[in-house]
Amino acid sequence: MVSYWAEQALLPTGPASGVLLVEDAGRWTAIMADQSRGDAQRLPGVIMPGLANCHSHAFHRALRGRTHSASGTFWSWRKQMYRVADRIDPDLYLALARASYAEMSLAGITAVGEFHYLHHDRDGTPYDDPNAMAEALRAAARDAGVRLTLLDTCYLAGGLTADGHTELTGVQRRFGDGNAERWAERVAALAGDDNTMIGSAIHSVRAVPADQLPIIASATPGPLHVHVSEQPAENEATVAHYSRTPTELLAGAGVLSPRTTAVHAIHLTPGDITSLGSSRTTICCCPTTERDLADGIGPMRALADAGSPLSVGTDQHGMIDIFEEVRGIEMGERLASGSRGRFSPSELLAAATAQASIGWPDAGRLEIGCRADLVAVDPLTARTAGSAIDQLILVAGSADVHTVIKDGVWVVADGQHRLGNPAGELAATIDKIWEIR
Ligand SMILES: [Zn+2]
Repeated sequence: MVSYWAEQALLPTGPASGVLLVEDAGRWTAIMADQSRGDAQRLPGVIMPGLANCHSHAFHRALRGRTHSASGTFWSWRKQMYRVADRIDPDLYLALARASYAEMSLAGITAVGEFHYLHHDRDGTPYDDPNAMAEALRAAARDAGVRLTLLDTCYLAGGLTADGHTELTGVQRRFGDGNAERWAERVAALAGDDNTMIGSAIHSVRAVPADQLPIIASATPGPLHVHVSEQPAENEATVAHYSRTPTELLAGAGVLSPRTTAVHAIHLTPGDITSLGSSRTTICCCPTTERDLADGIGPMRALADAGSPLSVGTDQHGMIDIFEEVRGIEMGERLASGSRGRFSPSELLAAATAQASIGWPDAGRLEIGCRADLVAVDPLTARTAGSAIDQLILVAGSADVHTVIKDGVWVVADGQHRLGNPAGELAATIDKIWEIR
């Protein structure tokens, strides 16, 4: 049992002072405001719950700083992403993911939803262990001190046209299992552990034919994620082939539910918004990626009003900063609507800590019985100094994170990760990925 004391904390009831937190076996057993410190260990800064990164493709970290300057579209960016995907083996995947997840820990993230589709060897042949790439992610997250929700992704087709789905070609063959049954058999061989949850994902209706969707939806009881309507071209192809929008197709296949998260959800009809909201499907917004890829601004206020919880993800990892992602929700709404204050700071904090979106409903709140995660943000950096605590989420950045505790274990202390600075491993691994072959 360990007792901590913080001058200030963001509790479910709002900002509080003199907060005593007692941790036992990785859970909070007592949390009380207006207490004196006594012999409790002092935590520096403003304490908030562990942040949740609900949409990650770890290997996209190798694209940072190499793909942002060019013109082109989402589709030309995808060609560069495929070039990187072609070069990664399980050893490089482990090194890149470990360092990327360590960067996430430094940014206050205690759990990540990894939308994992880089399954097989270069020509699509399974490795000796067909889950070798998933196991690399599991080891990476454990080393880095981040809980992992492995959203094992079914990816069966290369694309969708009015005439139907096209075959996987080139590097896409690494993503495919042939059909949903064979994908489900491979996933069934994966077991969760004390740091890992097994969930599933449908890459998109571009990559999975409609008759395969119900098989994926019933394969695992854990969280189910799906990319939805990131680009208008996806909607155009889906309507041309099925005479339905991607959301209508997913709703008809029984995919939408409270355990489901729709990622992006930008180009929606009013009927899509009603369908997502009434099914209580979570929406995972990735604003820093969506603006980089010129995807558009999603109707986040309308989705929240319709009943959808919101979460965020750093997706392509152009930056890893959950504060910037949630600010992106609010600032995108301001630009699109011409009015301010579309989301309250407490709504933005809920999106930043939406651990339920990746299967950890007992995390993301400083509450008795919850997992003992916390993040301390320094309120006295040059960026944060002078801010009121309840508006900290609108000004802080990942560099202001001072302390991170995950499941009762210290991962970041005084701004330093327990593994040391991940920059060296990131630079060495990314250089190797771009130079080989
Ligand atoms: Zn994605």
